[in-house]
Amino acid sequence: MHEIDLAQDIVNLALEQASRLRATRVLAVNLRVGQLAGVEAGALHAAYREASARTVLAGSRLAIIDVPLVVWCAVCLAEVTPVRINRLRCPRCDTAAGEIRRGRELEIAALEVDA
Ligand SMILES: [Zn+2]
Repeated sequence: MHEIDLAQDIVNLALEQASRLRATRVLAVNLRVGQLAGVEAGALHAAYREASARTVLAGSRLAIIDVPLVVWCAVCLAEVTPVRINRLRCPRCDTAAGEIRRGRELEIAALEVDA
């Protein structure tokens, strides 16, 4: 279950940010998770609770912000959202999608802290 490793990474990053902010307590960690990131939210929440115990993150909320998949269609010259994430084609013209513009994110957007 890779969520355990992910949770540990998130906790490490959040602890670094918290210490830079000199926070004594973290209320929430807002995490941007792309549709293609392959994260199972329930498993990540559970792993996060474990990994954050006995740190300033203990008891904080892991708020997952879903980032929808967006690809570039070279025919429509537009950013479009495929109907299904396992079928990366333009919903308008059915051309195979080019570049993935959004949807692979797995990053901390913000920390809510008690200073
Ligand atoms: Zn198109």
